Amino acid sequence: MTSQTPSRRRFLIQAVVATAALPFVASGLIGTVQAQALKPLPLDNPQAVALKYILDATKTKEPIYKPGSNCANCQFFTAANGACTLFAGFSVPAPAWCSAWAKKA
Ligand code: SF4
Repeated sequence: MTSQTPSRRRFLIQAVVATAALPFVASGLIGTVQAQALKPLPLDNPQAVALKYILDATKTKEPIYKPGSNCANCQFFTAANGACTLFAGFSVPAPAWCSAWAKKA
């Protein structure tokens, strides 16, 4: 090893660091693609219709609506990408609401 020149040693160190970092870079890119893959939940989605989904929680007339409840404070909501556990592949806006709302713990 003592016969290696400094530039070769530097190259090898850079190659090892780059190889070690690759999975982290790739997982970050995959996460970005997955976040972009979510489409807004259509109002005519059958499950959304069944659950009385509405874009503005304050506009619902559903008797089970609790004032102040919306997707933002629902346990099924992921704020980072707007995902809802009940509507796989779709995103919902924070002010929306549906009858499956459950208070975030
Ligand atoms: S389950 Fe919660 S997060 Fe999903 S649409 Fe209904 S209120 Fe919003």
